[in-house]
Amino acid sequence: MHHAWRRRLARILSLAVAAWLPALPALAAGPYQVVVNGTPVAGAKPFLRDGQLLSSTWPLARALGLTPHWDPGDRRVELSAPGHALALWQDSRTAFHNGTRLEAPGRPALLGGEIYVPTWFVAAQFGYPVTWDGQTMGIRTRPQAGAVQGDPLASPAFVFPFPQGAKYEPLQDNYGDPRSWSPDGQVSRRHEGIDILSPKGTPVVAAGSGKVVRIGWNEYGGWRLTVALDAAPGISLYYAHLNGYGPGLYEGARVKAGQLVGYVGNTGYGPEGTEGKFVPHLHVGLYRPDGTTLNPFPYLQRWESRKVVVSSEQ
Ligand SMILES: [Zn+2]
Repeated sequence: MHHAWRRRLARILSLAVAAWLPALPALAAGPYQVVVNGTPVAGAKPFLRDGQLLSSTWPLARALGLTPHWDPGDRRVELSAPGHALALWQDSRTAFHNGTRLEAPGRPALLGGEIYVPTWFVAAQFGYPVTWDGQTMGIRTRPQAGAVQGDPLASPAFVFPFPQGAKYEPLQDNYGDPRSWSPDGQVSRRHEGIDILSPKGTPVVAAGSGKVVRIGWNEYGGWRLTVALDAAPGISLYYAHLNGYGPGLYEGARVKAGQLVGYVGNTGYGPEGTEGKFVPHLHVGLYRPDGTTLNPFPYLQRWESRKVVVSSEQ
């Protein structure tokens, strides 16, 4: 009874307030926010229209790693990433993703000279998972960095895959980034590991001891090496795009953490011997027994404090 009356009073008050306000467009501004990888997107200024949360295109695109473009003549907004091109039109539900016509649940809006796009729809087209609690829209462009405590991969049995003194660019979390190359040019994928840019010929060492389970050419990975890890049963470490291998490696061979296993190259993305399709880098992947991947980034960050010395006669 008491609650029913309070509800009625609240409704009367809200109607009274609404009557006072100047006529607003059919937009519901509110305490909304868009959060990408745990960080609120500054300048997204999200609001609801047609039950869809719209965000200002440029700040959203920046947070999602997309390239935006606005064509004022066509009233078309484009968002692109390697392997993806999404086009939307102001006040229209029509969308094209990689040339396929789609119906978007919301319509882009032009407000104050800024074009706003349906947040969930855009994130979903690029394959990013979205959560929504009625106030906050959360988007992840990469899986959450796992807690590494008590995790065998965080153990001091592991070392950094580059030895002391090796040249490489600072570590970047590029796990989950879009990657477009495939043998038939049709498939777009998510990046299943971490790329570390480094000059061709830089020595690569085993990050963990284990057994070589795959070695040789792979059309994605070029000269690659997969090691089943002793310290993390079931997990294997994958090194790709090598320019060559260290001595004594074959399928079934044992490697020790810190042992020279190869050299940085830019092999792969084609039949055996293909190289030069991208800049030299080391690709590091972590695979579970079912073929799913783990993000190596938090581990590489830990391992970076442990680098071995490789003697020149190795
Ligand atoms: Zn890679």
